[in-house]
Amino acid sequence: MKQSQLFTKTRKEAPKDEVSKNAELLIRAGYVHKEMAGVYSYLPLGLRTLRKIENIIREEMDAIGGQELSMTALQDRQLWEKTDRWDDAKVDNWFKTKLKNGNEVGLGFTHEEAITNIMTGHISSYKDLPIYAYQIQTKFRNETRAKSGIMRGREFGMKDLYSFSATETDLDEFYEKAKQAYVNIFARAGLGDKTFITFASGGSFSKYSHEFQTLSDAGEDTIYLSREKGIAVNKEVLNDEVLTDLGVKREDLEEVHSIETGNIFKLGTRFSGALNLNYKDENGESKPVIMGSYGIGPGRLMGTIVESFADEKGIVWPESVAPFKVHLIDLRAKEASDKLYEKLTALGMEVLYDDRDANAGEKFATSDLLGMPYRVVVSGKTITSEKFEVKIRKSGEVLMLSESEMIELLQKK
Ligand code: ATP
Ligand code: MG
Repeated sequence: MKQSQLFTKTRKEAPKDEVSKNAELLIRAGYVHKEMAGVYSYLPLGLRTLRKIENIIREEMDAIGGQELSMTALQDRQLWEKTDRWDDAKVDNWFKTKLKNGNEVGLGFTHEEAITNIMTGHISSYKDLPIYAYQIQTKFRNETRAKSGIMRGREFGMKDLYSFSATETDLDEFYEKAKQAYVNIFARAGLGDKTFITFASGGSFSKYSHEFQTLSDAGEDTIYLSREKGIAVNKEVLNDEVLTDLGVKREDLEEVHSIETGNIFKLGTRFSGALNLNYKDENGESKPVIMGSYGIGPGRLMGTIVESFADEKGIVWPESVAPFKVHLIDLRAKEASDKLYEKLTALGMEVLYDDRDANAGEKFATSDLLGMPYRVVVSGKTITSEKFEVKIRKSGEVLMLSESEMIELLQKK
């Protein structure tokens, strides 16, 4: 993509009311636009990163048998009354509105009710089970505080998968698979080293749920971490019983701030019971389907990545989610730059080409702010020396490489 064609511009200042680092940088870099607190539009570069994160998640969900669907944002009041989750006294973050005929509808903040209801039309026998269904879809939540940029939206994308099993054993087995899929997602998104499986409250069906907590000073959560064991406990459930269960001592746990980037939960029969989602077992006996839910926020992940790796110059993307792998900078060597751009893109590389008429200082500052993994500079010097300057954004390392050496480096996985 040629930067001269890109409609987004970078800017020196973020809006004054923006207090989070992730949104400040993403707005300045032209990745997102702030509509209002907790409500952000994704602009072309930001959307590329969001889609890459979503695709990592999608691949991992497909790999454990997930079937993708897309449910509606508009939700029927009657359905939610059956599970006792319509009342604002029970759920405090609903956005609700009315139809012309006066009937109330809500904007879905989650989709257990909707998917359970859908499944009543598709599950009748043990032979229909298990089913794993997921979507990557927009949720609406009237969050009290929306001060964490894209990490806490009032309108935001979520991947929510729901599992439907005949037995608890089947649920347990899938739950472990989903946990591993989440570990894979965080590793692939570059957050593996900073993300810990955290014991959290389990609701009425199981003792614990599991959160994926990513260490960050920008986090709104507090967890107690055992780096040695690679596990953590959410502050909400820290007590003697949990410590015994996990075989850890309080004094060995470190109190740290973190971001809840994912959450997996055994629901049991909470929703299938209320909405009559039953199946007939081998003996023809009717039983409620056993469910689980598995959530992760692609936008929250993107914000967490920005928070985790940015430096004083700007964003630093891991290669797996960068909008482009290479930022090619032309410094008044147009012909050679054009040629290299053609060559790299022909090799299938994702290249953002700064072909704008701007000075070196401005181009370098923009490049650091945007945060592509590799910056390649083509200048008059390149032509005389036949060496290209390659800067690795993450380490700041600068290499002078021949064209073939450079291509070899960029093609390395
Ligand atoms: P929190 O405790 O941070 O409010 P939650 O427990 O309400 O989150 P879940 O309902 O479990 O979150 O949602 C599943 C996932 O969706 C979360 O782990 C997170 O990644 C993402 N998520 C939740 N709320 C938001 C939000 N307001 N903006 C962006 N992502 C969100
Ligand atoms: Mg939570």
